[in-house]
Amino acid sequence: MKDVLVYIELIEDGVRPSSREAVSAGREIASATGGSVIALIASGEPVGVPTLDGVDRIIHVTHPALGAYTAEAHAAVLADMIAKLDPAAVMLAYTTAGLDLASAVAVTASLPLVAYCTDVTVADGALTTTSQMYGGRLEAVVRAPLPVVVSIMPGAFPEAVTTGASPEIIVQDAPKSLDALRSVFVDEQRPARGSFDLSLAERIVCIGRGIGAADSIAVARELADALNAEIAGSRPVIDQGWLEKERQVGKSGRLVKPRLYIGLGVSGAPEHLEGMRSSDLIIAVNSDAAAPIFTVAHYAAVCDMFDLVPALIERLKAGTP
Ligand SMILES: Cc1cc2nc3c(=O)[nH]c(=O)nc-3n(C[C@H](O)[C@H](O)[C@H](O)COP(=O)(O)OP(=O)(O)OC[C@H]3O[C@@H](n4cnc5c(N)ncnc54)[C@H](O)[C@@H]3O)c2cc1C
Repeated sequence: MKDVLVYIELIEDGVRPSSREAVSAGREIASATGGSVIALIASGEPVGVPTLDGVDRIIHVTHPALGAYTAEAHAAVLADMIAKLDPAAVMLAYTTAGLDLASAVAVTASLPLVAYCTDVTVADGALTTTSQMYGGRLEAVVRAPLPVVVSIMPGAFPEAVTTGASPEIIVQDAPKSLDALRSVFVDEQRPARGSFDLSLAERIVCIGRGIGAADSIAVARELADALNAEIAGSRPVIDQGWLEKERQVGKSGRLVKPRLYIGLGVSGAPEHLEGMRSSDLIIAVNSDAAAPIFTVAHYAAVCDMFDLVPALIERLKAGTP
């Protein structure tokens, strides 16, 4: 009977949805090990614990160093909890923080780490999981002995639902090491913004590397204009200098949640999906039927965008459905 520990990320309005998904994955492992699902919430203030479905226990650790995120402080708390609980599995969402923490605690606790996981099965004391590598171009089926650290791909599991019982909340002291950290949060400096804010856009036409060349962007701009949408890009498009940095969607760009997102030649790497997967309606156009963006798209067009987009513009301009 070994428990499963889930690291919960807090965001401005509560719990990060991908942490709730990691709880679901943790529940699947716990039902095989016969243990409980324990959530770890680390925060700077002893504030109220947010609602968290699907867990049996919540361990809440507070310390001023846990307020603004630093990897060193949060890794210290998570490693401390692993040492205390000796869980069968440590679950994290594959996010910016998850990327930092999973590898750090795996080293500290001498546990194997399997990242980018899209499913989990436990049998004979080992975890079998599919690890989605190279932006989904390669899926490796991995078997690792328990205990193990697992980072879950956002969107691979549904958000956890209630077990029917309220979780027990336990407040625990922070480890002493938090009083003597080598990295200390000093100040947050957000990049100066012009008047343009992509995160406020209601409609976005986002181009990926599949657009091929700067000259080809004209056709995507024409579609954006016909839809009264903003044009945006994946990171390679921004890195090429084809669009301004403020138009980048994703982990190192803007988090967007428009009513309509159209992706043209965007493969759907995890870092891109992190920035747009909560959009209300996602339409993906990609010539590769196996592109990972189709896992989050509501509508998929498997074709060459240069065949589809001009025809679409023509229809929109003509006002025909
Ligand atoms: C720490 C870190 C942070 C990152 N942050 C971000 C971020 O914020 N945002 C981001 O986007 N990426 C980010 N990345 C990069 C990310 O990993 C991917 O490399 C990137 O998202 C891939 O961009 P893409 O989909 O445009 O290109 P590719 O992965 O090269 O995909 C191009 C796609 O176009 C399709 N295609 C080609 N020609 C056509 C055609 N004619 N018609 C239709 N489809 C076509 C192909 O099938 C392919 O799927 C980050 C990476 C790291 C490590």
